[in-house]
Amino acid sequence: MYIFKSKEELQKHLAAFSKGETIGFTPTMGALHLGHMHLIEQSNLKCDISICSIFVNPTQFNNPNDLAKYPNTLTTDLEMLENVKCDIVYNPPVNDLYVKGEKAKSYDFGSLTTILEGEFRPGHFNGMATIIEKLLNIINPTIAFFGQKDLQQLYIVKNLAKQMKSDTYIEGVETVRGKSGLAKSSRNKLLSENAKKEASLIYNCLNYCENNKAIGVTKLKSHIQQEFLKNENFTLEYAEFVALKTMLPIKDWEAVNQSAVCISAYHSGVRLIDNIIL
Ligand code: AMP
Repeated sequence: MYIFKSKEELQKHLAAFSKGETIGFTPTMGALHLGHMHLIEQSNLKCDISICSIFVNPTQFNNPNDLAKYPNTLTTDLEMLENVKCDIVYNPPVNDLYVKGEKAKSYDFGSLTTILEGEFRPGHFNGMATIIEKLLNIINPTIAFFGQKDLQQLYIVKNLAKQMKSDTYIEGVETVRGKSGLAKSSRNKLLSENAKKEASLIYNCLNYCENNKAIGVTKLKSHIQQEFLKNENFTLEYAEFVALKTMLPIKDWEAVNQSAVCISAYHSGVRLIDNIIL
């Protein structure tokens, strides 16, 4: 496995591959887990060369505290990537991707950014898109892999690739969960064992929505709110039903082909998000 710390080294290495070889790219912020590994496995299956980037992108953190406590487990990350047979890791310092004082670009993603993460993490998607645009331009992958766990991000990146007129295909990969249903997340490392157990409430609520679609959006939403009120360690930030392609809120199933229920909640100060496509 090759590890590059600078884009020049990485691009020099990539230039040696023949034009026919396909490149799969998985951007991450490290603190890797089985969810990330699943993305790399998909990349290995579908492409000749798999690249994973590990870069904690400062411009997408609207809360400096969140950035400061973001877990860093580089040694284990590299071992995991080696084990999953990732070919190349790009792990640059901030100044390889940003000039000093550089801020996030301003994008227009229309309705995709008005609610959910767009509402509760102002500036987050501009920062995310800024780094993804840079990475796609540096690597120019055949396919880039993104988790459905960050559903809104997935649709924004698809839109970004269109705006960039990029040839890269943006592939969504299903969410990997633990036995309790809790979605794998780098932030789970910040939870106590008991908090992890309690955090399965998020999946239980999503699952309830999937199994009880017939009772309608309003009742499902109040069911979720009631469940979260029962546990004082949890603060529900949002529980929203959205149309899949626009990410606009829906009040009933009629108007849309595909929808999703998205939840964001804090447990013991740790922000967790998850969703299910309905
Ligand atoms: P992150 O390191 O959190 O920025 O995530 C990097 C990529 O992994 C993103 O495309 C995420 O959506 C994806 N991802 C995170 N958690 C999971 C999971 N549990 N299952 C599948 N993909 C995931």
